[in-house]
Amino acid sequence: MSQDQTAFDLLVVGGGVAGITTAIEAAEAGLTVALVEKEASLGGRVSRFHHYFPKLCPPSCGLEINFRRLRSNTNVKVFTLASIEKIEGDAPSIQATVKIKPRYTKPVSFDYTAWAESCPVEFEDDFNYGMNSRKGVFYPWENAYPPQWMVDERAIGNAEFEEWAKSDPAGGIDLTQAEETVVLTAKSVAWATGWKPYDPTNLTELGFGSSPDILTNVMFERLSAPNGPTGGKLEAPSGKEVKRIAFVQCAGSRDENHLPFCSGVCCAASLKQATYVRDKLPEADIHMFYIDVRTPGRLEDFYQDRQEDEKINLHRGKVAKVETVGDGLQVTAENTLTGDLEQVTVDLVVLATGMQPTAAVEKLPFNANLDENGFFIQDDEASAHYGVGTAVRPSGVAETLQDATGAAIKALQMARRS
Ligand code: SF4
Repeated sequence: MSQDQTAFDLLVVGGGVAGITTAIEAAEAGLTVALVEKEASLGGRVSRFHHYFPKLCPPSCGLEINFRRLRSNTNVKVFTLASIEKIEGDAPSIQATVKIKPRYTKPVSFDYTAWAESCPVEFEDDFNYGMNSRKGVFYPWENAYPPQWMVDERAIGNAEFEEWAKSDPAGGIDLTQAEETVVLTAKSVAWATGWKPYDPTNLTELGFGSSPDILTNVMFERLSAPNGPTGGKLEAPSGKEVKRIAFVQCAGSRDENHLPFCSGVCCAASLKQATYVRDKLPEADIHMFYIDVRTPGRLEDFYQDRQEDEKINLHRGKVAKVETVGDGLQVTAENTLTGDLEQVTVDLVVLATGMQPTAAVEKLPFNANLDENGFFIQDDEASAHYGVGTAVRPSGVAETLQDATGAAIKALQMARRS
């Protein structure tokens, strides 16, 4: 690491798999790297998956290896709870003003689990997309990096909480911490700002919000995960037993009124989620409504296998409506070949919402070259700002990792040019 703890060869914005991989690859090639993540832990969307492609293993398997590489590489400095406020200047001295929120804890080797149970305040758990609540003192997730407890900022100023916090058994809670600002310089910036699930409240005809049992695909990942809101028990949020479940493909995708593009991964994701249902609820009937199933490359075999499963019913139809009828959820679809209407009543509906680049919904702190959907346009070889992974195009984890390696090479070229 450089003597100057604020001067780096590369600044990586975003600590999901794209950002982590870019940072590690560049650091292992000898660059100094600042990795800036706005959440409390690295890992991004992948850390919230139950299983992910291509290995169909829990996120901890790949992330833990990367966290180990990070821990052992002194070329990378990680900033969490940190967001870029301003970008100024040009290569080779780009200045980034970074605001760092307080964690309200000091790193202590003490397990606060039992004490945190007595915390008098709870808040919506955003790691689980609001499907449960968590205590005001919490551990971000079991493989969190950095491995440190924290205080929910919504607890600050709550008199009852602050009084309770005085009973801290290990001296790690520090409610006096305040926001900090640092200015970092870098020779280039890799924007690994990732994606957000398309906002399902825009899809009024699909009923999101009208029943707790209409979920999105990312919520279903949490519902299936052992560290999710039900401990991995697949039950409808209303508490109802799940005997029939529907996956609604292209929920807001390939639609000029919403996302005009195909996200490329949500067909495979729903087929993967169908395997969760088969494992956990072998008697449940699964219905998947699709316009056409897009499972490129190796995933085609995975699709073929699912087609042979008698419990998985594939319906070629664009879903027109999801509504509560009696004690079930009625899915109405129009067959895209015959025009016939088809209706199925189920207990749980999963909307396969697409990937929207974060830059489409959160303004970046510089004048980025983005297309009409918010993806980075990479047509200027000399630019010191470049996107990585899903900031550039919808992609799965495997493609994102390859992209990140490419971004690290770009960072090396930019560093050598200066
Ligand atoms: Fe629709 Fe499948 Fe493309 Fe997703 S991957 S947008 S569900 S066709």
